[in-house]
Amino acid sequence: MEADEQLAAALDAHGELLAEELRRLADLPQVRIVPSSVFDRAKPLGSVAQARGVVVKLRCCKKPLDQKCNNLSGVAACPTFIEAARLLRLKVQEKHGSEECLAKACEHAESTRSEGTTSINNDAFARLMEGQLAKQRARSALTQCEKKVSTLRAILSDAQASLHQAEAEEQEARIELERLEGKKQKTANNSQKGRPPHYEEYSSYTHSTWLSTTGEIMNRRAVEPRQDISKPAPPDGEDGALRHWRRGLAGCICDWAAGSLDNVVKLIVRVINHFKVMMIPAD
Ligand SMILES: [Zn+2]
Repeated sequence: MEADEQLAAALDAHGELLAEELRRLADLPQVRIVPSSVFDRAKPLGSVAQARGVVVKLRCCKKPLDQKCNNLSGVAACPTFIEAARLLRLKVQEKHGSEECLAKACEHAESTRSEGTTSINNDAFARLMEGQLAKQRARSALTQCEKKVSTLRAILSDAQASLHQAEAEEQEARIELERLEGKKQKTANNSQKGRPPHYEEYSSYTHSTWLSTTGEIMNRRAVEPRQDISKPAPPDGEDGALRHWRRGLAGCICDWAAGSLDNVVKLIVRVINHFKVMMIPAD
């Protein structure tokens, strides 16, 4: 695994806690930290505590200093990169915190900064770490949103079912009252006045069903017919191409014909011209 990926995987596993420890370590003037500073040489990764840890280069004494993980308990325990980064920071402060080391570190940082390298190394590390954390935050925000959408969809679906039930009860109650008051019974059609045909079929759709069926229709509508494509003829009958309650061609033409048979003829001619097909039997 590349150094960048190892750091990314470690941040993925330990999140902001590790990032905070690494930032504090990188803030020490004695420390030069790079993506490969977080290492795991075990295969598979994470299988050997002693094979992973954090290593930095010391600007003061020009040598590496590391803290490996271990399986110990108590104050020396170092199970994860978080403890490794924290113990390494304490080690740097304890063993290289002298005025001499600090002065040498600052001098070295100053001399290499003018060459444009040292601070760039720590900056590259910080940028890589921030990029990884931003991805993690975005991923977690997406998960939260997905959960919220799913919860709200369930609530909406329940509410739609309850509304449906309440509307049916309301209708029954109205009919019963009218019967008791001796009013003339309305016909089934009149009592459903205001409701379009097939209301029962589509009113129980959940929002997601509505979206997915509409999306499927939109996809089919967008397919340009070609002469070299051969498919079985569209079905006939109640649920067929002509009479399907939602997608039928007849209903589609009526939608635009506004009740005029004359318009029906005009629309059919327009369809023929649109697809540049001759008058031939349909099947
Ligand atoms: Zn030192």
